[in-house]
Amino acid sequence: MGSLLDIRPISHWLPNIDNPLLISGPCSLESEEQTMATARELAKDKRVMVFRGGIWKPRTRPGSFEGMGTVALKWLQQAKEETGLLTGTEVANAQHVEECLKAGVDILWIGARSTASPFVVQEIADVLKGTDQIVMVKNPVNPDVQLWMGALERLNHVGIKNLVAIHRGFTPFGDSKYRNYPNWKTVIELRQLMPNLPIICDPSHIAGKREYLFEISQKAFDLGLDGLMLESHIDPSCALSDKDQQVTPSELGKILDKLVIRYASSNDPQFENMLDALRSRIDGIDHEIMEILASRMEIVKQIGTYKKENKVTALQINRWTQIMEDRLKIARKLNLDETLVKLMFQLIHEDSVRMQTEIMDNDL
Ligand code: PEP
Ligand code: MN
Repeated sequence: MGSLLDIRPISHWLPNIDNPLLISGPCSLESEEQTMATARELAKDKRVMVFRGGIWKPRTRPGSFEGMGTVALKWLQQAKEETGLLTGTEVANAQHVEECLKAGVDILWIGARSTASPFVVQEIADVLKGTDQIVMVKNPVNPDVQLWMGALERLNHVGIKNLVAIHRGFTPFGDSKYRNYPNWKTVIELRQLMPNLPIICDPSHIAGKREYLFEISQKAFDLGLDGLMLESHIDPSCALSDKDQQVTPSELGKILDKLVIRYASSNDPQFENMLDALRSRIDGIDHEIMEILASRMEIVKQIGTYKKENKVTALQINRWTQIMEDRLKIARKLNLDETLVKLMFQLIHEDSVRMQTEIMDNDL
């Protein structure tokens, strides 16, 4: 079930924005020097609008660097004073929120592990009640769009309207090219369910490796997401967390230079006319596909009746194997994606068997 929450666009709290929202900064704030050196370099690039830095780090296993804690809030304040960048950090409990509100941190985000826990989210929401804070919610580690929405709703119910969702990928099963599986369909689902919610992408935590940052960022723009959060560090080789996925501010600039920003629509009338023409051809083809599918189903029914009269089973494994082999051969010849064709025929076959068993079981 979708929900149209009372959510403000990014331009409400960032009026000068005319490009996608860009957030960058270290995974973790490690020292005053590292914070300030990174912030100063980033501020030279006018495309960066928010400086991020982790202060309390949720680590999967104990024993790794868990952030500098409260002392780092001062460095964040200092970065804001000196560069004018907005600041943001992750909060994971009521005490973090209280400290950030006191220190004037502009943006708080709920991390992937916390979003997965409704108690934690509620505890954070309760402290934020009555404030006009900007809050971002990362997706939960598992691809559960309801849990993600639930966290956004908990915040909205206490009056938080400056909300943004962050897509940072999902824990993969088994081997995976990326550290976290992007599962773009979950993001598309969130967009459909909460159409007025700004969504940005965190390619750093999806990638796990800096070499993949560009392709993931471009994909986010291709899908029309509203911005990016990319981790950067003045010297990634010495980073105390997420070393392999951070880039220097100047490498970040090079990634941004290459990215093509896409817009929801174009005001070029020629583009609109061409798009309309192509879309009406697609509509025509879809209607033809459906008519052909209806004729196929008619024949499936006839076969069902015929099998019933002759006491033959609906499911014929050999025939099914042959169909799949043949259709995949054609898919390869026509340069069609094999997974698409396989899934499509699996669905068609499943429905054909369902129809035939229904015919057989009628008036039993
Ligand atoms: C982070 O932003 O550094 C972080 C820990 O992210 P996530 O919650 O996405 O793992
Ligand atoms: Mn990180």
